[in-house]
Amino acid sequence: MESYDLVIKGGRVVDGTGNPWFKADVGVKGERIACVGRIDSSKAREVIDAEGLVVSPGFTDPHNHSDWTIMAGRTAESYIRQGVTTLVIGNCGFSLAPISEEHFEDLKKYHEPFLLTDIPWNWRSFGEFLKVLEDNGSSVNLIPLVGFGTVRVAVMGFERREPTEEEMKRMERLVEEAMREGAFGLSTGLVYPPQSYAKTEEIVRLCRVVARYGGIYATHMRSSLEGLDEAIEIGRRAGVPVQISHVGSSRGGIKEIQGRQEEATLKPIDKAREEGIDVTCDIYPYTAGSSYIASLIPSHFHEGGLEKLLERLKSDEVRSELREELRGWEWDKTLVSYVPDERNKELEGKTLEEISRIQGKSPVDALCDLLIATQGGGTYVKFWGIEEDVITLMRHRAVMIGSDGWVHAASGVLHVGKPHPRCYGTYPRVLQRYVRELKVLELEEAVRKMSSQPLSRFRILDRGIIREGMYADIVVFDPKSVRELSTYEDPHRYPEGILHVIVNGVPVVRDGEHTGATPGKVLRNVNSMER
Ligand SMILES: [Zn+2]
Repeated sequence: MESYDLVIKGGRVVDGTGNPWFKADVGVKGERIACVGRIDSSKAREVIDAEGLVVSPGFTDPHNHSDWTIMAGRTAESYIRQGVTTLVIGNCGFSLAPISEEHFEDLKKYHEPFLLTDIPWNWRSFGEFLKVLEDNGSSVNLIPLVGFGTVRVAVMGFERREPTEEEMKRMERLVEEAMREGAFGLSTGLVYPPQSYAKTEEIVRLCRVVARYGGIYATHMRSSLEGLDEAIEIGRRAGVPVQISHVGSSRGGIKEIQGRQEEATLKPIDKAREEGIDVTCDIYPYTAGSSYIASLIPSHFHEGGLEKLLERLKSDEVRSELREELRGWEWDKTLVSYVPDERNKELEGKTLEEISRIQGKSPVDALCDLLIATQGGGTYVKFWGIEEDVITLMRHRAVMIGSDGWVHAASGVLHVGKPHPRCYGTYPRVLQRYVRELKVLELEEAVRKMSSQPLSRFRILDRGIIREGMYADIVVFDPKSVRELSTYEDPHRYPEGILHVIVNGVPVVRDGEHTGATPGKVLRNVNSMER
């Protein structure tokens, strides 16, 4: 009788701790790793030959936005093929739950720009949403965060003001419920309305709830220099661990400190850590970011919600205000990446500068007209920075790798637009460019930043290391050939060199092909002190 369901034979084990690789066979039984050592192949039901290959923990993406696309894309194609076995969703203040009846329509509008396909909206509470995800099935594990924006819209709609004490208490209750139902923390996106309308105190109060339940605070900070100080202050006052989201764009995108990240970003983080404030970051390995087109319009124009915004964009007066406020915006570095409107599809892949030239109007008019045509939908890619900053930040021990992308696929309904290549290439790109070519990171350190580090950030301690007893989330890749193929012009391409991916003991990618298996789990926060 076989003792193992699967044995990965003869590979170099990079175990996820940062330790140097060692040679060992890895035996899997059921969902777990049963042995790391020498294993007789005759004891295995299935053998994967990993001679010359690296065997490492599957990668965990601490900053992902697949909340919407995982429903239609349960096979998680563009991630599983990167070797990613776990996604943290609900980032930047956008989670799909909780929903309030009172502001249901507002919530749908809030999420509208991100919907590539229809979603069922057949849940209300955070727990119900997790159940829907679970029933839907997934090839990858999911770690959910509750989004501040969702909570604020559920209670206050798109009001641009401080909450009343009554509203504040309702928000605290919604966050508390979500934490009890399995959320791993609260996320914010303080550049996005209506989240941008909140003052620090409001977030501190919600983070105190999160801290009581052993969660973390993940933040897409305000885009001013002081955004980092605010994030640290929230950590200090609420006693909550802070995760700075996509620190490359959040800090590297600030012109005054480009080329000076050591002093301007890493030093304050180190200082906070010395004081005992638990601050860490994630970064994606690109100098361009991506978001929804409507977010290019400054926050205050969004007051009252999407319909009000679109109404305002028709006014000449508003447009001339916009020209003033958006003076200096780099339209030539702003690429339209997805247009949910058949009549304007040909704009995908063009910069707003090009579009304005073709249409013979100013970039602001081109932007406003596009938003009106798409009812506020669509996404863009923006080149914000320099690679030197990415490298400086990426090297720091407290910085892990995240993608800030979402599930796409090279065929089917999720083969749409020209999404940021990070959706397909983040993890192979780190291994190719920053490990192999530029030697910015050692292989073992890169794997640590992509596996055990993000998982331990969320207090998930039974995954992310190749060790007996751990869940068998494993990737087998070729360190010499692994590379990204996705580009800004031609993004829908899977990487090369990721050969086998195992999730909870089940092969999901075998010899570079998806098996169709959906063994992923929806993980729930069980570290609550109050349970
Ligand atoms: Zn963000």
